[in-house]
Amino acid sequence: MTHKFVEMTPSEQQEFLWRKNKFLHTLNRKRYFDDVKMSQPPYRPHWIAIYSAQMPGLGLHQQGFATAIAGMASEEQKARWLPGIYRAEILGCYAQTELGHGSDVASLETTATFDRETDEFIIHSPTVSSSKFWPGEMGRFSSHALVYAKLIIGKKFFGVHPFLVQLRDLETYKHLKGVKTGDIGPKVGYFSKDNGWARFEQVRIPRTNLMMGFINVDREGNFKKTGDLRVLYTAMMVMRTLIVQFCGYGLQKAVLIGIRYNVMRRQFQTIHGSTQERPILDYQTQRHIYSSLLAKVFVMHVNSTYTTNMFQGMMEEIWETRQFGKMDSTHHILSGFKVIYTDDYCDGAEEARRACGGAGYAAFSGFRAINENASAYPTFEGDNTVMMAQASRYLFKLLAKA
Ligand SMILES: Cc1cc2nc3c(=O)[nH]c(=O)nc-3n(C[C@H](O)[C@H](O)[C@H](O)COP(=O)(O)OP(=O)(O)OC[C@H]3O[C@@H](n4cnc5c(N)ncnc54)[C@H](O)[C@@H]3O)c2cc1C
Repeated sequence: MTHKFVEMTPSEQQEFLWRKNKFLHTLNRKRYFDDVKMSQPPYRPHWIAIYSAQMPGLGLHQQGFATAIAGMASEEQKARWLPGIYRAEILGCYAQTELGHGSDVASLETTATFDRETDEFIIHSPTVSSSKFWPGEMGRFSSHALVYAKLIIGKKFFGVHPFLVQLRDLETYKHLKGVKTGDIGPKVGYFSKDNGWARFEQVRIPRTNLMMGFINVDREGNFKKTGDLRVLYTAMMVMRTLIVQFCGYGLQKAVLIGIRYNVMRRQFQTIHGSTQERPILDYQTQRHIYSSLLAKVFVMHVNSTYTTNMFQGMMEEIWETRQFGKMDSTHHILSGFKVIYTDDYCDGAEEARRACGGAGYAAFSGFRAINENASAYPTFEGDNTVMMAQASRYLFKLLAKA
């Protein structure tokens, strides 16, 4: 291996980054994990958030990948995987979307075919459109992926389910046999994320890598449902609770920059008895913009606590009593909030930028990174139009019952 990063081949760069990450994780693990109580509910990992904030790339690993496994794996699987996942000994991503299908999850094409002889699933990408496309941290960063694939036993199809698939060797960080991944390339924003693609060529994984918290496939290939399968999408629900929170933080930054600038910036000598120009925040139109944006920031922060508690209450009820009654209303509220707040974040950050005049268009204002980041929110974790339709469907159901 050469010493200069730019002179390395892509696979040498990959190996170099993995070793560096491993080193940093080992250091941070000592700082953050020695006193951690693993008995804490896995879907409420506040301490993980602290750890993730110290380590680039760990946000999706801990909040998408880890929470998805905590929500969908059986107790035995959680005991097997979660300690290593929380300690970032393996790094994972949430691999649902494909080139051909994003919103229409039921039409995903990646297959997971049970091989009774070897007690394994064979993960396969049968078409170009079945390539996984978009998962955050999939291209270069992750050693493992939670892959959503069509479960096939015999010739029968049992729906789309999540499987834990190892992508890379943990020592060399080279792709395992049959796996290919890469970065999808430049995006409009969200540059900190390695959004990736993946293809699987008859990749074999143990049968027990299928998430079995609410279904079971036994050694003979018998499929059994043990809960409401909509729980498979609780990982997206938890991400939506976080989105409400992140929209609050993002819009807060834009509003803070805008208000500070508006207090300092002066235009027109309109103050009676003074030769001073007037701060632009004195103008009613500017106040209207920033007061309504500031109010939205407060609402987002308050509602992020509300949605987090609501989601946790639902998950506790599911795990403790196997009752799924709160899923419909929780999904309704989270989908609706996701739409309202991501639109407010995206449009509000742009409004805050424009209310700073030319200065808001200069990259040094700091708006550019915020606006680019905000532009991804209405799309990921369920496109807003589709989410709004889902939120409305619940109301129509209630109306039909009334
Ligand atoms: C920055 C970023 C990060 C992402 N991270 C991940 C990740 O970590 N893991 C992952 O699996 N995926 C990830 N995604 C993918 C994301 O979840 C999908 O892009 C999203 O679900 C939309 O799917 P699509 O791109 O296929 O759009 P499409 O489904 O093709 O939608 C395109 C347009 O058609 C409209 N449309 C589609 N269906 C309907 C309908 N029934 N009624 C009305 N309008 C409709 C939509 O509203 C949208 O405007 C990420 C995407 C982005 C942009």
